[in-house]
Amino acid sequence: MATDVDVKGTDGVWRPMTVLTALSMRPDDRKTRSFRCRECKGHVTLHRQSKDGEKEAHAQHVTRWTGCPRSDCYDEHGLRPHPNPAL
Ligand SMILES: [Zn+2]
Repeated sequence: MATDVDVKGTDGVWRPMTVLTALSMRPDDRKTRSFRCRECKGHVTLHRQSKDGEKEAHAQHVTRWTGCPRSDCYDEHGLRPHPNPAL
């Protein structure tokens, strides 16, 4: 499960950030930013820790991708770039 992501800065440069830090941004700021998987570069959405605490805050691919080790449907055949990457 991915607990860190790339976030696109206002200067257009992608930088690593933990999901927790990303979730602590003001919602208005967060809406204007793009987030992507650090491995396959696919778009991700951010999810808070589950109420029962079982799942920590994490990122999920918007479009599931079998070619990413961070995906819940990874096929174990190595990392391949997401077909719909965030650039
Ligand atoms: Zn990925």
